[in-house]
Amino acid sequence: QFPFGRRLPCDIYWHGVSFHDNDIFSGQVNKFPGMTEMVRKITLSRAVRTMQDLFPLEYNFYPRSWILPEEFPLFVDEVRMMKDSDPSWKPTFIVKPDGGCQGDGIYLIKDPSDIRLTGSMQSRPAVVQEYICKPLLVDKLKFDIRLYVLLKSLEPLEIYIAKDGLSRFCTEPYQEPTLKNLHQVFMHLTNYSLNIHSGNFIHSDNVNTGSKRTFSSILCRLSSRGADVKKLWSDIISLVIKTIIALTPELKVYYQSDIPAGKPGPTCFQILGFDILLMKNLKPMLLEVNANPSMRIEHEQELSPGVFENVPSPVDEEVKVAVIRDTLRLVDPQKKKRKDVQQHVESCKNTVNVRYNYVLWYRCQTLEEASEAKEEAREAGAGDGGERGGSRSPEASLPSLCLKQVFPKYARQFSYLRLVDRVAALFIRFLGVKGTTKLGPTGFRTFIRNCKLSNSNFSMASVDILYIDITRRWNSMGTDHKESGMCLQAFVEAFFCLAQKKYKSLPLHEQVASLIDFCEYHLAALDEKRLVCGRG
Ligand code: ADP
Repeated sequence: QFPFGRRLPCDIYWHGVSFHDNDIFSGQVNKFPGMTEMVRKITLSRAVRTMQDLFPLEYNFYPRSWILPEEFPLFVDEVRMMKDSDPSWKPTFIVKPDGGCQGDGIYLIKDPSDIRLTGSMQSRPAVVQEYICKPLLVDKLKFDIRLYVLLKSLEPLEIYIAKDGLSRFCTEPYQEPTLKNLHQVFMHLTNYSLNIHSGNFIHSDNVNTGSKRTFSSILCRLSSRGADVKKLWSDIISLVIKTIIALTPELKVYYQSDIPAGKPGPTCFQILGFDILLMKNLKPMLLEVNANPSMRIEHEQELSPGVFENVPSPVDEEVKVAVIRDTLRLVDPQKKKRKDVQQHVESCKNTVNVRYNYVLWYRCQTLEEASEAKEEAREAGAGDGGERGGSRSPEASLPSLCLKQVFPKYARQFSYLRLVDRVAALFIRFLGVKGTTKLGPTGFRTFIRNCKLSNSNFSMASVDILYIDITRRWNSMGTDHKESGMCLQAFVEAFFCLAQKKYKSLPLHEQVASLIDFCEYHLAALDEKRLVCGRG
């Protein structure tokens, strides 16, 4: 710990809350710039909605949401329309203040007119979303799942999911929402921080019972009831990958701003907490993502009235220790160095100095490869705790990895969803000044000109109007007034507009994909031309 600042560079920096130190020039930091902003309720809802516009079916794991106060009229209109078309629809909505956590300020409503728009709500933006009325119950109780996900790298994208998580239970038997029970938080909200204050909260002393259990214990129960647990896991993996795909475009904008390419800087990784609710039909729904999930492995217990003590929590310990341990194993700088040495040795094996290299290669082989092979064998379920080649592996005493790689492992299945990433790459290319996150009018004009998007039907004057209209609207609702110009979401909206104009009859995702291809083609041609001119 460096409470008074730090002089020597470190291999790994562990920041408490968010990325905050711009004086790091090497090593790895455990937080991404901008992640805290990205997972706030409003920003996450916006990012997911962009993806829902493009791929509605693929992104139906996030409840329909509206952003308050600006979308209040839209919320009222849409609910009225849906009720008119289906009079039997009796929805419930959940209102969540932006930036809130631990259930703070959350309440349920039956009708848009019940929203508390007066007083503090007016100054406090919020998300209102459809309430999932039929959650899966265990022991008649509603519960949610906290899963730990390691975003190991943004470029290339690398995602790991912890094989076990936590299930956090309500403390009152669940009933579908009625006007009478709407306010009963112990029935409807699964937050640990709320339910711990209920007289019914049961501290677990093993991982299968109580108000906080391991997710694997729930899976065992479901499996014994005949549920298709394999499918459930694969749905959860899809949900995690798709959510991260929705977040990466803006994260890349933050990243290049805080850690500009070409300058010395650290790389980043981050442990995220995904909160997931299972519906009765076992469909997983995303509730929210936590950028700074609690890693506490003890809980407070009231020994006698007013006397509290921290006692170990076996469930938290079982899940969280493994997540931190394996995150450190995966980002281990020594491991990377060993890999580099090995790659170097492999390449040297073919050169003249065969004997010397053989000695080096042999050392690598016995010491390091053994450990990696063992790790892989364990991953494949073949771990036997023994040794290979007679050498002692540095990881021999460690349990098998609890973090399972899901990306790039399943990249092929999901790559078609990464359209907004490509739009963000265009945006970043035209940002110009290093360290900024917003595009100026000149940058936007250059984008249009270089991608050959202006023509007799779409003059440069129309380009300026499009820029001003969209930028003004986004800046009027955003909270970030530090910089002027067009933010990524505004650029994405402008890009969708241009795509719709150019490729009228196609579905939106095809329009956008076609326009990206068109832009990338012209930019590649331009780069080629510049290269040739440069050589000339
Ligand atoms: P917070 O950050 O304050 O914990 P969440 O979005 O996690 O906010 O919501 C708190 C709790 O409310 C969740 O743990 C879950 O039990 C419940 N909840 C949230 N959204 C929904 C929803 N759309 N449908 C049903 N329950 C929900």
